[in-house]
Amino acid sequence: MKPLVDPFGRTISYLRVSVTDRCDLRCVYCMSARMKFLPRDELLSIDELDRLCAAFVRRGVRRLRFTGGEPLVRRGFLDLLQSVSRHLGDRLDEVTLTTNGVQLRDFAEDIARVGVKRVNVSLDTLDRDTFARIARRDRLADVLAGIDAAGAAGLKVKINTVALKHDNAHEIPDLIQWAHARGHDITLIETMPLGEIDEDRTDQFLSLQRVRADLASYWRLVDLPDRTGGPARYVRVDETGGRLGFITPLTHNFCDGCARVRVTCTGRLYLCLGHETSVDLRTPLREGPSDASLHAAIDAAVALRPKGHDFQVARLRTPATERHMSVTGG
Ligand code: SAM
Repeated sequence: MKPLVDPFGRTISYLRVSVTDRCDLRCVYCMSARMKFLPRDELLSIDELDRLCAAFVRRGVRRLRFTGGEPLVRRGFLDLLQSVSRHLGDRLDEVTLTTNGVQLRDFAEDIARVGVKRVNVSLDTLDRDTFARIARRDRLADVLAGIDAAGAAGLKVKINTVALKHDNAHEIPDLIQWAHARGHDITLIETMPLGEIDEDRTDQFLSLQRVRADLASYWRLVDLPDRTGGPARYVRVDETGGRLGFITPLTHNFCDGCARVRVTCTGRLYLCLGHETSVDLRTPLREGPSDASLHAAIDAAVALRPKGHDFQVARLRTPATERHMSVTGG
């Protein structure tokens, strides 16, 4: 079947799939405190998710990442992982997931057993009170235990940290040292204007260009050519020996060469995290056992892929999309 190439010549080889919009945390920059979740019948079933992944793999997707919401709260998630791992070593190079780590202690061994090699764990602070304030849940100890369990199960761990001006700016160097001392890569992320939340995002926005300049005043940061089909740009920190990534959607546009698309937990294909352009894949999936209309819908969507997002610092107050990251999948 023909590969997925967008109107700007970019080949799509990476798919992120949100398996649920539900989460066991309520991070302030991601959700509102009284978040309304989708009715369960709107979500794709585990079988539908499996079929969808298989269709994308047939079209040349070589890397799959599951996310959410929180993937580990989705019932049947391990069955899905196990099933998609049948493509590994053939058409698929990698299956990974992004998790908040709260339940990783219980799942790490099974995740490793089905062929996952790496997990991304989101962690914004090492301070219990700060964690409870940002996540609106007191679960830091569970996350740290989950990270240890992942390491013990042989999974490579990358830490993802959203940079927040008031909540964790002062802690960023400690977080980097902590991660590198344990052999984990760490990536810093700027807050993105996705969905309504209770606070003003402009207030928490921290430019990673500034963070990088601060770090470079006392550490030697060596640019690395590493690319992972996504927005992160990496450096090696000479003093810690570890790898540090920067995801800077607000201060530096990262769309050239973007190889990834996303499917929401309801089966909408989004061609860009920061654009509303999307196509429904749930209807063709539910039409019947043939994948013909599913592939036609995927082709129609790819033809609509925009050149890039238009997040702007000046417009942080108004969300660029109505969708929360928990629906689209971070
Ligand atoms: N629950 C999983 C987790 O915590 O990693 C997966 C989903 S979560 C939406 C994925 C990532 O998106 C997390 O690292 C989270 O911190 C980040 N995130 C959520 N909302 C964001 C926003 N508005 N701007 C930037 N990052 C955001």
